[in-house]
Amino acid sequence: MSERIRLHWIASLGVACGLLANGMAEETSGTLELSPPPDVADIQKITEGLWGHELGAPITILVTKRDEIAGQLTGDAIDEETREMIRKAHLLLSRLHLIDEDTPLESLAGDFYQNNLGGYYDPKDKSLHLVGGFKAGAPESRSVLSHEIVHALQDSKYDLIKLIEGVEGSDAQLAARAIVEGDASQTEGLFRAKESGEEFNAKQFFTRWETSVGSNPKLQDYPPFLVQDSLFPYIKGGGFLTFGTRGDYAAARAAVFADMPKSTEQVLHPAKYWGKRRDEPIVLTLGEAPDGWQESTRDTFGEWSIMQLLTPPRNHPTTVRVSLDAVINDKEAAEAARGWGGDRIVHCIDGERFFIAWDTAWDTATDARQFDAALRRRVALYPQFEKLSAKVRWQEPSIDGEPVIWTGEGRVATFRRTRTGVRFILASDDEAAAAAREVFEWRASRE
Ligand SMILES: [Zn+2]
Repeated sequence: MSERIRLHWIASLGVACGLLANGMAEETSGTLELSPPPDVADIQKITEGLWGHELGAPITILVTKRDEIAGQLTGDAIDEETREMIRKAHLLLSRLHLIDEDTPLESLAGDFYQNNLGGYYDPKDKSLHLVGGFKAGAPESRSVLSHEIVHALQDSKYDLIKLIEGVEGSDAQLAARAIVEGDASQTEGLFRAKESGEEFNAKQFFTRWETSVGSNPKLQDYPPFLVQDSLFPYIKGGGFLTFGTRGDYAAARAAVFADMPKSTEQVLHPAKYWGKRRDEPIVLTLGEAPDGWQESTRDTFGEWSIMQLLTPPRNHPTTVRVSLDAVINDKEAAEAARGWGGDRIVHCIDGERFFIAWDTAWDTATDARQFDAALRRRVALYPQFEKLSAKVRWQEPSIDGEPVIWTGEGRVATFRRTRTGVRFILASDDEAAAAAREVFEWRASRE
């Protein structure tokens, strides 16, 4: 049920990936042979040594042609349940204007993988894939393989499916994925350093990684939201682990895998996890779909997705280098998302009619107010509210008072403030907005 619903689409196909650096995709297109073939046993031994665990058996790699990746990961390769999950996530994200309605999400995922993957590990059948055609003797083929072997090691020791799918909500799942990818990338960095005889510097490694992967011109073909979402686990997961490493990476990693961060808030601000008083998410609950409505999505957005949601499209980069900077450095969005306490979103549908009920909790009244203001600023840019007067737009809801209601073209939005909370409704019509209020007020109605 809800634990299967993942907003982070690129992760929704359930494989752990190694992304390609700039320029490598060109060289690896089409051909099947790895020439010369990497010494798998040797790479396995070195990686096991670096990671401090043994698989207990020699691994087999499957060499996949680049142009076959999409077919292996999307289309007939995914089950109906996963396809339905992607469709529902797409509907919600497009109604919140995070992606365009006509973005072909599933085929885009296959295309993204096809152009940007160096290899992947599939925890469902424990298979390890390397994309064929690396240049003869390319050290990249060795380090990509090492990265994928780390995923096999993580799976053998901790069970990747349980680790990622066993937690509730997209936000906690993305946090878990950040640890999985951050660790595989860090170990890949250690592997590279060992091969080249250089000293390993984690901070430098992740900065270079972001520049290198972000400079891949093929990333420009995808909506920024999707690219940033797929880079997040590597960059922020790596930074989180680096922050907690006090001279002993293996110890830091073991501690984190035994006690995973529960939110992207903790991943974005490692001190909220590693510090003396951990900032744990507040659990919010919303009522069931009212009669006549079908629940499409029930999930938690978290700080990272809120930052993305609040970043106006014009602030996303369109050329040169893709990075997380557009979101992280969007002062209003980042500032407004900080102080996140918890959230719960429910999306219900009835044919073309819909409502989104979103409850959010904040650490302080100031945090709640900043989020409310930024959310209204962002929603005011939705095309359906273009004609809204400035007076309505900037009317601030009073604390515990009546909600501020916006009526646009085919959309109703309401904003309601409590001292440390903001309740947002986006609906297709007034009646749908009234149904959303039932979802908020379910406790009262049951008493
Ligand atoms: Zn990976």
